Amino acid sequence: MDVEAYSAWYRGYVEAQAQAPPVERTRTPPSQHCVICNAYPALLCSTCLSAAYCTTRCQHIDRPLHKLICKSYTLLPPRPSPSHRLAIHLPDDSTCPLPLWINCITKTYDGQEYELPDVSAIFHQDTATAQGLDAKSLRENVPRKYKLDHTIDLQFRDTFLFDGSRQNTCVKTLLDGNYHFDWRGPLVVMSLPGVVVGPARYQDVTAADFRVIIDYLKCYYGYGFAALPASLLPTAPKPTESKPPE
Ligand SMILES: [Zn+2]
Ligand SMILES: [Zn+2]
Repeated sequence: MDVEAYSAWYRGYVEAQAQAPPVERTRTPPSQHCVICNAYPALLCSTCLSAAYCTTRCQHIDRPLHKLICKSYTLLPPRPSPSHRLAIHLPDDSTCPLPLWINCITKTYDGQEYELPDVSAIFHQDTATAQGLDAKSLRENVPRKYKLDHTIDLQFRDTFLFDGSRQNTCVKTLLDGNYHFDWRGPLVVMSLPGVVVGPARYQDVTAADFRVIIDYLKCYYGYGFAALPASLLPTAPKPTESKPPE
């Protein structure tokens, strides 16, 4: 899909979502820990209420990345249905990360219910199955050395290195040359409550999760983090006396 076709598809997608009746349900709140240094308690970004910072210093560190999605978090249409969850799409053919609603279909396997996100329109599958897809599950921010209280899933085509998928333009742009692995095809970021592996149930991705994913992509070599040079590890700022963000 070229950029124009993608834009047309996304406009239609957003319009269809905007026409859906609003649902009385608040979004999943972000962690109250600072997204940069994990200090607690931290204050929410006053614009999107979806990422927390302990000081203006940490907010300043996150700003170049955060500003790419902060406003779009405020412009999203209401949740189209109780089964829709907020996700972030990192498109292979556009530079902009896109928060969007994904419908999660409830299925049953072996007597247990689980949810299957319908990402068929993004991955260009014919049906809403997980066939051909894989995910990395993050339960900590490895380079910043803190554990998450939830799980972030990064979904991708499981054959993207050899199925003709194009290089991911969004990741390439966001990492600004600082990347060591050839991410190809679309990527979708989703969130699950808790850190225990079990039947999948999704919650809304927060703007704080966006930072965690970008830190991960920046440091991922394809074989984990073992070979990561110290120069690439972000240094966690020490909590300071500066004023918390307004
Ligand atoms: Zn902080
Ligand atoms: Zn914000």
